[in-house]
Amino acid sequence: MAPSISLFKSRDVAVIGAGAAGLVAARELRREGHKVVVFERERQVGGTWVYTPTVETDPLGSDPSRHIVHSSLYASLRTNLPREVMGFLDYPFVSTGEPHRDPRRFPGHREVSLYLKDFAVGFGLSELIRFETEVVYAGLVEDDKWRVKSRSGNDAAIDVEEIFDAVVVCNGHYTEPRLAEIPGIDAWPGKHMHSHNYRIPEPFRDQVVVLIGGAASAVDISMDIAQVAKAVHIASRSVEAGILEKLSGNAVDNMWLHPMIESVQKDGTVIFYDGSVVLADVILHCTGYKYHFPFLDTSGIVTVDDNRVGPLYKHIFPPHLAPGLSFVGLLWKVLPFPMFEFQSKWIAGALSGRIGLPSQEEMMADVSAFYLSLEASDTPKHYTHNLADSQFEYDDWLALECGIPGVEEWRKKMYQATAKNRKARPDKYRDEWEDEDLMLEAQKDFARCRPNGAGDN
Ligand code: FAD
Repeated sequence: MAPSISLFKSRDVAVIGAGAAGLVAARELRREGHKVVVFERERQVGGTWVYTPTVETDPLGSDPSRHIVHSSLYASLRTNLPREVMGFLDYPFVSTGEPHRDPRRFPGHREVSLYLKDFAVGFGLSELIRFETEVVYAGLVEDDKWRVKSRSGNDAAIDVEEIFDAVVVCNGHYTEPRLAEIPGIDAWPGKHMHSHNYRIPEPFRDQVVVLIGGAASAVDISMDIAQVAKAVHIASRSVEAGILEKLSGNAVDNMWLHPMIESVQKDGTVIFYDGSVVLADVILHCTGYKYHFPFLDTSGIVTVDDNRVGPLYKHIFPPHLAPGLSFVGLLWKVLPFPMFEFQSKWIAGALSGRIGLPSQEEMMADVSAFYLSLEASDTPKHYTHNLADSQFEYDDWLALECGIPGVEEWRKKMYQATAKNRKARPDKYRDEWEDEDLMLEAQKDFARCRPNGAGDN
């Protein structure tokens, strides 16, 4: 009998980053038969989930020469998603029952970092990872190959240059702060900083803090700080002008809601759009982050414009560089880990040739139609990668392309139930819920997986 010859190609692939996205990308690429090298700047896996008390020298995180601290986690952070929905599809994020682990449904950050470590060990991924190795350059060379230059330690003399067939970018997007523009800020005498450099509330004891932002971390941080601060004033776009509202129902009673800041003055006051005035000590920007790929050279084919990374087909492939260059994890307001998994499976299959991609022209037409739909619905450019309501449609589309089942119904329902609960009780949703029926369904589903799904490399 003739030896069987695989019709599918095995490629040399560089994965940049060993956070949740890079880990699952490495697993899927290897499962598909590719040869994988994962470059990781830090000394361990987990990316965002590796908490450090260290902060950057520039509290605003805007000085390009600062020493970069990758993680933006604060000490008190617990997940804002229940562990059942958060975990990878075939490696449930269940409590291990070990005494040093956090069994809560919305665990603290350390538990997530340990889960990601277990994932890496369980699937034998550590052998693929070069720790403390930063990619300083990734650019296209002739024959559709990619030159990757990496640096270990601080010594530029030991830069290593290698050629790969493909690069998968998994470098995360919660490190480079986005700041609100505030008229008068240069003369304002108080302290201002970005939540990237917030860790613990103690430095804010007895201070008056103005916090800008309305997303999950702004809510968490404001409640954290309010335990010790004199007052916390939240300036949020989602508050109509003219409303100054005292937030009640929390354990603390010193939080106020405002519309956005109109200006700040050199006497230390902060003026809001409704005309209210507060004398403040600190302004804390909880205003999100910028996509940043300082190592990537695509000769201008891929750009970041007002936080739109593009053009990208399905937020993953630049049509003119597909499938050699891809991005995992750009989307936000989503269930990240399962989405990384679907994206990674699609990339792995496209690289081997098992899954076909449309022509460059067709992919470009799809991207253009998507941008037009955003314009038609008045969606700002910097919301391009905010998938929100259509995330499960997106996941299911990827699953169909890969020929695998889509997102489980219980997971979709539990995600919606959590969103509703978080809105109804922002300070208690992590400890009080009403979706026990969905938890049971999830447990039944998990029982069908092999123990933690591991062992299958
Ligand atoms: P990251 O985890 O950021 O990993 C990127 C990795 O790339 C890092 O290890 C970094 O060191 C490495 N890297 C970067 N540049 C280079 C380079 N040039 N060379 C080599 N290595 C490089 N998600 C949830 O599911 N649930 C939650 O409750 C939740 N809460 C969150 C709270 C906060 C405050 C934040 C910021 C995020 C939260 N998220 C949450 C989202 C979280 O970011 C994702 O869950 C996920 O961890 C992102 O994984 P990633 O691999 O894309 O990026």
